[in-house]
Amino acid sequence: MTGNEYLMKNYAPMAVCFEKGDGAVLWDTNGKQYLDALSGIAVTSLGHNHPAVTRAISSQAGQLLHTSNLYSIGRQQQLSELLCKKAAMDKVFFANSGAEANEAAIKLARLYGHNQQIENPQIIVMEQSFHGRTLATLSATGNRKVQAGFEPLVQGFIRAPYNDIEAIRNIAKNNSNVVAILLEPVQGEGGVRIPDSDYLNQIREICDSNGWLMMLDEIQTGIGRTGKWFAYQHSAIKPDVITSAKALGNGVPIGACLARGQAAELFHPGHHGSTFGGNPLACAAAIAVIESIDNEALLARCTALSELLLTQFKAELEMLPGVKDIRAAGLLMGIELSEDCGELVAQALHNGLLINVTAGNVIRLLPPFVMTDEQAMQLVAETSRLIKAFLSQKQTA
Ligand SMILES: *Cc1c(COP(=O)(O)O)cnc(C)c1O
Repeated sequence: MTGNEYLMKNYAPMAVCFEKGDGAVLWDTNGKQYLDALSGIAVTSLGHNHPAVTRAISSQAGQLLHTSNLYSIGRQQQLSELLCKKAAMDKVFFANSGAEANEAAIKLARLYGHNQQIENPQIIVMEQSFHGRTLATLSATGNRKVQAGFEPLVQGFIRAPYNDIEAIRNIAKNNSNVVAILLEPVQGEGGVRIPDSDYLNQIREICDSNGWLMMLDEIQTGIGRTGKWFAYQHSAIKPDVITSAKALGNGVPIGACLARGQAAELFHPGHHGSTFGGNPLACAAAIAVIESIDNEALLARCTALSELLLTQFKAELEMLPGVKDIRAAGLLMGIELSEDCGELVAQALHNGLLINVTAGNVIRLLPPFVMTDEQAMQLVAETSRLIKAFLSQKQTA
């Protein structure tokens, strides 16, 4: 492979280079086959080369790619209605990535505050959260590694421990400048952390009694990943703002900031924008994604596959000392070990399997919804084998 010397060293990619994909399978440039249990980090939930998405992109490319938001965009209007209905939100702003969707949410919250004469609006954010790499979103992120070297950080964020309602109540008591709370319904990068079942309900109550916007970062959890369109839909509440990206375009870059009620009416011409956001190509892809999830009953498939994987993984691994927890919110799955296990990623890749390790010691699996039962069993067998070998080698070391 040539060309690496011209790329900035943002990443430390593994040497493998994929050339082709189909469903949950990838092939590299040497023709070696892999099983994909990462989905490009929760992006290609419909698998690679999904026929309806490929068709929609090809057909749109042959018609019109881009005109700008200076004109009405038919595909964008079509997608806005579809997406708002799935999210139970009133209005949407389209961006090109997750970080940009969160930037829009952060700007909404500040505008919401300024409209109430709060000159120094504050947003509550969580420890171990991840919201992106732009200046505002890395400032909102609860991970020093993401922030270090990029100070001064953007102000206006107050940090709280995740899944701790008392901490939020204390902030409410002591700070009258809070205008919103921004959190992930399940923390993905933070280690597949699933909060208590009434956590979102209680956050909603606090937001209501204090007049705060409840803003959910559903960039990783949305578009079916947890078995519902959005993870918040497992609870009875509705947030005021939701951000989406990752799986929304199944690989075509698109992000969205959705809002409801008062929050949906805050932006006016001149407040915020994007040259590319919501262009016909990206919207055509996202429309095909949403329609395919419906047409192929992929939410139900996600739930069934999650149950199969969870049962099988528990049967293989639950009793092992060194395996702390096995948990899943749909097909956002975490196997937590008692020690750091980053080396498993390269070992798996060598054996033809794409997995991820996050927060040091949590094996994160994000398989596509179209993975077959047979492929799922292969995933369980291979991952369990690697974990067992890893643990026994640690014990004898
Ligand atoms: C991936 C992710 C982001 C950032 O999305 P980008 O498209 O990389 O900017 C933000 N929030 C969460 C929860 C994510 O998982």
